[in-house]
Amino acid sequence: MIRPTHVAAGALLLAAVVSAQTPRPAPGAPDALALVNANVLNVRDGRVVANATVVLRNGRIESIKAGGAGGSGELPSGAKTIDLKGKYVLPGLIDAHTHASDFAAFRRALESGVTTVRSAGVSHYVDVGFNELVKKGAVAGPNVMSAGYHVRPQIAQEAFLSDPSYADLMAGVTTIEKIRRAVQMNLSHGVDWIKVLATERAGTADTDPRKQVYTEDEIRAIVQEAATRNVPVQAHAHGDEGAMAAVKAGVRSIEHGTYLSDATLQEMKRRGTYLDPTYTTVIDLTDAGGDYDVPALRIRGEHMLPRLRDTVIRAHKLGVTIVTGGDTSYGPNSLTRIGQEIAHFTEMGFTPIEAIQSATIRNAEMLRLEKSIGVIETGYEADLIAVEKNPLETITTLQDPVLVISNGRVALDRLSFGRQP
Ligand SMILES: [Zn+2]
Repeated sequence: MIRPTHVAAGALLLAAVVSAQTPRPAPGAPDALALVNANVLNVRDGRVVANATVVLRNGRIESIKAGGAGGSGELPSGAKTIDLKGKYVLPGLIDAHTHASDFAAFRRALESGVTTVRSAGVSHYVDVGFNELVKKGAVAGPNVMSAGYHVRPQIAQEAFLSDPSYADLMAGVTTIEKIRRAVQMNLSHGVDWIKVLATERAGTADTDPRKQVYTEDEIRAIVQEAATRNVPVQAHAHGDEGAMAAVKAGVRSIEHGTYLSDATLQEMKRRGTYLDPTYTTVIDLTDAGGDYDVPALRIRGEHMLPRLRDTVIRAHKLGVTIVTGGDTSYGPNSLTRIGQEIAHFTEMGFTPIEAIQSATIRNAEMLRLEKSIGVIETGYEADLIAVEKNPLETITTLQDPVLVISNGRVALDRLSFGRQP
């Protein structure tokens, strides 16, 4: 009896490990999916592989063959075929800054071509929960790198409904000891990132985004505490002093960065700190509607936008690595999409391939996922989008994907619009 039990336990353990790492295809999903006649963009070097056949299986890219293969004899038996003649295929886009917090919002992200997001803070750890559902194959995506609650002097009160044992933090997270406990509270929920508020917010009328919130030593305590679980830190920072403190404390990314000086940008370049400018959402501040629709913020947005634009241009010239983040909740009225952020980058001195890299391989590197997402190569996750035109010539085509595949599953198909093949 002992041996079979032992084997069964081992098998169970293995199954658990596999299911934790590999998204499972939905019941009834085809064995394999073959994309034929696809123009595949290699985002590493900007070359297009014409008429390629890409075979996807079990949520992974199984093979890529160039040059008009795809005769049915060469395709794996049982494979469902999707003809992408004339279309361009890229890796799924990455949004490094989202506040999506319900199924409909994550769905909108996915349908905009985003197959991986990094949460920048949500309530009730729904980012952790949603990603568990993706990993179990219950939903196609996007994959979520979670962040839980912002570490800030006043953590959102409802956080303590999940964690009443941290009630002492309700009086304020203002000492090193309490700051460490706020990190621990998030880590206990299995978050992938810690988010710290290094300066005040821009999206609330009564806060000045230039004002520093935590000192370098306080942010260093956050970075060190997060590092005990190998978790990196993202710092919300508009003002230069708070941003410099966060950079020197060792955060991995600066979110927004509106008022960054050359000195801070140079320090970021030296340390390899990423800049996630969330430019499109500052445009949203200045426009009616969208995630932000408050007159006071419209006035603020009008002076922030040229400052942020200047920062992005200087950061790009200095060689700071810049990634795409939407800073949107993907609500029904949200105006911000990653396709727009990419297009805006090309208006600030990026070449088209550089802008696309910021949404794919550069972002994957920042997330430490460069071995599993961000390119279309054998063994990588089957996260891909198809667009109508060559994005290197028409960058706005990325705002309108006609096919989205996430973890090997077709999440959006607008290829035929009912036309019968
Ligand atoms: Zn945000």
